[in-house]
Amino acid sequence: SDHTLVYPESPEVMDWPSYYPAFVDEEASGETASPRRLRKDVEILDIGCGFGGLLVALAPLMPETLMLGLEIRTSVAQFVQEKIWALREQNAASKLYQNAACLRANAMKFLPNFFRKAQLSKIFICFPDPHFKARKHKARIVSATLNSEYAFVLRPGGIAYTITDVEALHDWMVDHFSAHPSFERVPEEEEQGDECVKAMMSETEEGKKVERNKGQKFVALFRRLEDPPW
Ligand code: SAM
Repeated sequence: SDHTLVYPESPEVMDWPSYYPAFVDEEASGETASPRRLRKDVEILDIGCGFGGLLVALAPLMPETLMLGLEIRTSVAQFVQEKIWALREQNAASKLYQNAACLRANAMKFLPNFFRKAQLSKIFICFPDPHFKARKHKARIVSATLNSEYAFVLRPGGIAYTITDVEALHDWMVDHFSAHPSFERVPEEEEQGDECVKAMMSETEEGKKVERNKGQKFVALFRRLEDPPW
């Protein structure tokens, strides 16, 4: 249960500097009482990040882009945050991994409390729990309602990345994103050139497990469209 989770009232009250101390805007954060701010915002979100394999792979590829994993399991979220702290220490000279962080949250709740409209450029949904039974489908992390939240926090041109080894879940995600007016599917030719797709296939813990079991991986990307003019 997640009834003990607390959510920020709005993105402005999130204590981002404690997650990304190397990105604090020193000029805007004098010694006055004004809260410390970052010089850039979180741009990449990994929903249900598990043990953080994707974050750890992407962080050094895009060292100036802030990325955040959301994970509902307390011990797993803590593990990822500690792994990132250790990597920061080991890479103090190169300053790598300062751009990654993980927090415990239920991604199905209050996403717009964490991120402003159009703040994000990429959302990853990697090997989400399949919830096979029909009566459990409402627990799926992709739905008409949640897709509207993803559309809210993604900027036009931004991409929602999905991968799963469960074909029925892949079809479900494709159906729900395709039916949503804010998204269009990215052509498969374009997927292949995307380094994030490679990372999602081979660097996630689940992706590795599927690889070992010689299972299939189904990938689909969806582009956030411009809002239609009023
Ligand atoms: N994305 C990782 C990967 O590809 O290796 C982990 C995949 S694992 C099958 C699904 C993860 O999503 C689990 O770690 C689970 O705790 C997390 N999760 C499930 N529902 C969630 C929710 N509502 N909010 C945040 N995390 C969630």
